Amino acid sequence: MHNPLLQLENVTKRFGGVTAVEGITISVFIRELRCIIGPNGAGKSTLFRLITGVYPPTAGEIFYNGYDITSVPTFERARRGISMKFQTPMVYYDRTVGQNLLIALQRYHDLGKAGKMAMDIMKRFGIADAAGKPAGEVSHGYRQWLEICMAVAANPELLLLDEPTAGMSEEETARTAELIHRLNDLGMTILVIDHDMEFVRRLNCDLTVLHLGKFFAQGSLAEIQAHDGVRDIYLGKK
Ligand code: ADP
Ligand code: MG
Repeated sequence: MHNPLLQLENVTKRFGGVTAVEGITISVFIRELRCIIGPNGAGKSTLFRLITGVYPPTAGEIFYNGYDITSVPTFERARRGISMKFQTPMVYYDRTVGQNLLIALQRYHDLGKAGKMAMDIMKRFGIADAAGKPAGEVSHGYRQWLEICMAVAANPELLLLDEPTAGMSEEETARTAELIHRLNDLGMTILVIDHDMEFVRRLNCDLTVLHLGKFFAQGSLAEIQAHDGVRDIYLGKK
């Protein structure tokens, strides 16, 4: 697990006068599962958008599989294996769960194959019973799982999940952690943004902490919980 799949070198993103991400240098290793945490406004979602190419960085470089992808467009990064579930829902509420997934899969496969894959994926994720229901009418947890399925449709090498448990019950959160472990066991490298500490504990992986756009700390959950500075930023003392 010593080859970095993703490397950010001194990456900065400014929006006018706001510095959302400042001088971040991190490496993510092949098959790694990592959580990104930090108070609201820390720059977590912006970091993901820089990795997927939604935004170009103001400064710095991004390397993927050893190649400089800093100027590579989003669709090309997706083709190379980077996929993301956004923080805000990206599903069509009036289409069924099955149709939404089919739309995602049809970007990569013909209709026959996409249809078969949609069923397989929904079964694997335990949402097949909702296949025929409009996405706007299923529970929040199902909608989140549908979105993870859609992000997985491309069979990515690097999967980015921005707050996948938002609005989920404790039981749904636990299941999401299991699903993420299963994908990671299949060889997917996964970065997860979340605040829910119980969920983070279940993911049982290293954490990177951001604060005010900057790298703040990194380590196991136990190390991060014992870190005075991290406690202070969550309590608003820094
Ligand atoms: P987080 O996901 O950690 O809560 P964000 O990455 O969403 O943080 O935001 C970091 C900072 O950048 C915030 O101050 C936010 O207001 C600002 N920001 C994010 N996106 C934009 C944008 N498109 N335009 C202007 N400011 C933005
Ligand atoms: Mg965010």
